[in-house]
Amino acid sequence: MHSTFHRAVKTAIIVLLAIIAALPVSAKRPKAKYVIVVSMDGFRYDYPEKYGAPNLDKIALNGVSTDMIPSFPSSTFPNHYALATGLVPDHNGLVNNSFWDPDLKEYYSLSGPNKDNPAFYLGEPIWNTAQRQGIIAGVNYWVSSEYLIGGGRPRYYRPYDNDNLLSFEARTDSTLAFLSMPKKDRPRLIMLYFDEPDHAGHVNGPDSPLVGEQVRRVDEMIGRLREGIRRKGLQKKVDLIVLADHGMTEISPERLVKPSDYIKAEWYDHIVTGIPTSIFSKDAACRDSIYNAMKGIEHVHVWKKEEIPAELNYGSSNRVGDIVVAPDLGWQVGEFPSRNKGTHGFFPSEREMQTVFRAEGPDFKKNVRIPQFRNVSIYPLVCWILGIEPAPNDGDFEEVKPMLR
Ligand code: AMP
Ligand code: ZN
Ligand code: ZN
Repeated sequence: MHSTFHRAVKTAIIVLLAIIAALPVSAKRPKAKYVIVVSMDGFRYDYPEKYGAPNLDKIALNGVSTDMIPSFPSSTFPNHYALATGLVPDHNGLVNNSFWDPDLKEYYSLSGPNKDNPAFYLGEPIWNTAQRQGIIAGVNYWVSSEYLIGGGRPRYYRPYDNDNLLSFEARTDSTLAFLSMPKKDRPRLIMLYFDEPDHAGHVNGPDSPLVGEQVRRVDEMIGRLREGIRRKGLQKKVDLIVLADHGMTEISPERLVKPSDYIKAEWYDHIVTGIPTSIFSKDAACRDSIYNAMKGIEHVHVWKKEEIPAELNYGSSNRVGDIVVAPDLGWQVGEFPSRNKGTHGFFPSEREMQTVFRAEGPDFKKNVRIPQFRNVSIYPLVCWILGIEPAPNDGDFEEVKPMLR
């Protein structure tokens, strides 16, 4: 009698545990109160092993790690805004660091004067998604966080003033300070951006010891952040996500395709050289001339925009030229070769364009290497942690589930 009762209880417990284990992650509730997302520009997936990054290694031990797949093109503005909106560049409006908008009749450029025109930014950045649902956002330098988009901005943001940027230490400390604000003003969505090791990678190429120096410099900032979270006793309340926008590969002035060697200026209205290069032809006949003149060139892919392979998710935007020229890894398209030794922008499937990803905190598994995923899925992940409803996006929560407890 007694043992039958025992067995029944045991069976009931086992069944209950099985049900809990089988619960979809989305039905579980997030445990963190705060989420901090840190981007280290151009931090390639293999830099930790290549150069040593002890603090990222600590996160890997105490959390999850993988290599993340950028969106095409693998450049800074398109990808930071893809991370923020969950939309690929073709849908988020920033189809490259520079582009021509044939309807606005304006050039957008990373270094240009008109970046504050809200018409350039499509979709809803996560800080707006959060604030619309009552969660305050504090953002230090994330691309586009300083602009009024859809009528909103993060409660706390900093204009990216190149001549007057906070030191890495100061921006890290400012990020930690968010966590000590009075509760009614305290952000729960926190984002931070570092412009290295991208810069060192461009100037010196990804294999230079100078890149290693910058890798360790930003890694130290991650250590400073972790230590600050620990000192505040918040390890069980903060999910920390560390990632990058794209990787880096070596380039050389010899690996250059010059459009003017093949096409005539009277065939197009606009050409925005870069990776990829967008050409807006004068008319249908000119378009055929451009296409026929360029399609056989080695080391570049030449497409009519509607024929771009589906996996690149590129070509539906009016800001993509009607002819697109995308170089193979390490090649450039332009009239002059870059003076840099490294760059990015190439296909996301290229290993060297992929980025580091590390995350730790109460919602993440410990010491687990998870499968690769696309960076647009960061948006639904962060929405889940914050318990908010995501806006329509290109990400997939299923992709990030394996990292969650
Ligand atoms: P790129 O390597 O050309 O894709 O762009 C990287 C550069 O963009 C960095 O070195 C930064 O100086 C610059 N950058 C990053 N964020 C911003 C921003 N919010 N506004 C203007 N420039 C930025
Ligand atoms: Zn970048
Ligand atoms: Zn760069």
